[in-house]
Amino acid sequence: MPTSSYFQQLKKIPAGTTIIAGPCSAEDHDQVLVTARGLQRLGVGLFRAGAWKPRTRPGAFEGCGEIALSWLTEARQITGIPVAVEVANARHAEAALRAQIDVLWIGARTTVNPFTVQEIAEAIRGTGIPIMVKNPVNPELMLWIGAIERLQEAGCHDIAAILRGFSCLSTGRWRNEPLWQIAIDLRQHLPGMPLFCDPSHIAGRRDGIAEIAQEALNLDFDGLMIEAHCRPDQAVSDAAQQLRPEDLGAILAKLVVRQRTTDPGSACQQRLRELRTEIDSLDATLVTTMARRMALSRAIGDLKRANNLTVLQRSRWEQVLGHARAEAERLGLNARLAEDVFKLLHQESIDIQQKILKNGGDAPQSPRRP
Ligand code: PEP
Ligand code: MN
Repeated sequence: MPTSSYFQQLKKIPAGTTIIAGPCSAEDHDQVLVTARGLQRLGVGLFRAGAWKPRTRPGAFEGCGEIALSWLTEARQITGIPVAVEVANARHAEAALRAQIDVLWIGARTTVNPFTVQEIAEAIRGTGIPIMVKNPVNPELMLWIGAIERLQEAGCHDIAAILRGFSCLSTGRWRNEPLWQIAIDLRQHLPGMPLFCDPSHIAGRRDGIAEIAQEALNLDFDGLMIEAHCRPDQAVSDAAQQLRPEDLGAILAKLVVRQRTTDPGSACQQRLRELRTEIDSLDATLVTTMARRMALSRAIGDLKRANNLTVLQRSRWEQVLGHARAEAERLGLNARLAEDVFKLLHQESIDIQQKILKNGGDAPQSPRRP
């Protein structure tokens, strides 16, 4: 897969990472220009603003449309910072191309729709315009990857991905759960692709942005997209999460950009190798133990079948789970981790035993006794 060069050459802040910033929505000429000037002082590499805003309910502010594109290009002329806009359909993409916007992005509500993504891909086919793809609102890695593939098939090479969190029915701390593992999985599928994090839409409030931004850098993200507005309290969309440029500057000054690696001969690398060797041997034990555990589940399944017993034995399961939780707590291990792992193991045991009850002794894919 060709790797993107456009996003890698964007200007970096002194700490050594790329910042994409700007208001949620371009609201008027002055707001765009004043915000862009404030961000120029921070070393922002790409200026963002929405001209078309997909809103949850009708009647809300849906963006200023094409006129906003001229404010963006004026901001570029004054600050020298390239500009990016969200496109939610082919018409938006065509208008952005006509206005000579530098970069496009596809928002979370559009990434979920393969037909719309395809139409956008057709609209920009052959133009070479760089494009960023936010994760879909729902936690489905393949939908995110599929959107990126549609753009690649339309000849786009400069593609970046943005993790903006997932809409979950949770009472978690954040507006959108980051579910970092999905971004880590995306990286594995698309190793050369620049990956940004959008802490504004994850946190949903100003006071959570620094924490999420630092977590993203700790996870080796290539940069951050952060919403900034010269008068955030008066913003017509996402007011609670937008930062004044000077407040964004204070956050950026405290960010720590970590190094990917150190000299292979260093004491640090030597110690890492030792610790990882120990981890490898424990991991091997874990896998062997799981295989042994499933072999025992299979034997229990045979007994249940022969004696017409239910697969689920509620009191036994409560006992297993309670014991795992108590042991985890005693050993200073996060009890939720123990619970999650045991639920997975139990589900696998159930699956194996269901097959035994259905198919008799030759349940497919039952593990052999190691
Ligand atoms: C935005 O960037 O302002 C936006 C609408 O984001 P998302 O698609 O992540 O909701
Ligand atoms: Mn927004």
